[in-house]
Amino acid sequence: MTTIDREIDQLVREELRGRSPYGAPQLAVPVRLNTNENPYPVPAPVVAQVAEAVAAELAGLNRYPDRDAVALRTDLADYLGHGLTADQVWAANGSNEVQQQLLQVFGGPGRTALGFTPSYSMHPLLAAGTGTTWVDGQRGEQFDLTAEATAAQVREHQPAVVFLCSPNNPTGTALPLPVVSAVLAAAPGIVVVDEAYAEFARPGTASALTLLPEHRRLVVTRTMSKAFGFAGGRLGYLAADPAVVAAVQLVRLPYHLSALTQAAARAVLAHAPALLASVTALKEQRDRLVTELRARGLAVADSDANFVLFGGLGEQQPVWRALVDRGVLVRDVGIAGWLRVSAGTPAETDAFLTALDDVLKEQR
Ligand code: PMP
Repeated sequence: MTTIDREIDQLVREELRGRSPYGAPQLAVPVRLNTNENPYPVPAPVVAQVAEAVAAELAGLNRYPDRDAVALRTDLADYLGHGLTADQVWAANGSNEVQQQLLQVFGGPGRTALGFTPSYSMHPLLAAGTGTTWVDGQRGEQFDLTAEATAAQVREHQPAVVFLCSPNNPTGTALPLPVVSAVLAAAPGIVVVDEAYAEFARPGTASALTLLPEHRRLVVTRTMSKAFGFAGGRLGYLAADPAVVAAVQLVRLPYHLSALTQAAARAVLAHAPALLASVTALKEQRDRLVTELRARGLAVADSDANFVLFGGLGEQQPVWRALVDRGVLVRDVGIAGWLRVSAGTPAETDAFLTALDDVLKEQR
């Protein structure tokens, strides 16, 4: 990959200088468990429906698409339930774009965004890209966030935007709703709860969607990239107060969601149960990973997501490399001694555990 040379680097905005682009390695190894993708291909009957829906748009591509994507937002609202309607939902090309739009509207120069590290690495990058000052909030020893500690940091920094992530990437654990409520009570501005992995939550874990009726400054972001297995389709969305949705439209590019994306996403949503069938299988592999890794004496964070963070590895980098050498790609998220592995098919879990046992045997 070409690097940014000195001459061009001097022209780059100061807050972006010296940074690396988002870059999960895309290596051609047999077992890829590093980006929390859904390992199951789109089922054949759904492929046929998506192809038909996309084909129906083709002759009309001489025209711009529905700028406000109303039909798609209506379908997304129906999927979410909780009595939500299209005017409370907004969609874009992945939840990354949704979050970027939120920072363009509610963050920006002279404003601060607060998140709690370790969390999704794009949140600070999106802040940098929008000129928003980023503050790294602190978690407890076990990556935990208590209502008191979290609210105290919000009061200290008075952020225009707070990012919570539930279930949190990379730790996997969902936030108890009282923590979200405490942050909402303390925050002067927008509170974003990134629920990219909500569909994988363990029973008894409530979504922040339930808090929307009482909180106008709450925004819940979701994606079709994970549970729906539609990462390549690029469709993320948010649920919020209609006025927040109206404000986001100030910064969206005209016709940002192509007619093809809108049609494909609607066809996929029409088959939600068929696609979400894989969630049960993935949760089984997730729980299996937690049990198996704990049985090996490793530290494992509770997971409500389709991935598991495991630690007690000594230096994680050589372990990551040794796994790649055995054809298994997991994620080094930069936490000393810890690695993250996505839940895949049962055969992929087998391959990962076999490779890990081999590596640990060599290490111990
Ligand atoms: N939020 C979190 C917590 C994520 O892990 C991801 C994907 N890795 C995203 C948002 C972005 O997903 P997308 O843009 O595909 O919707």
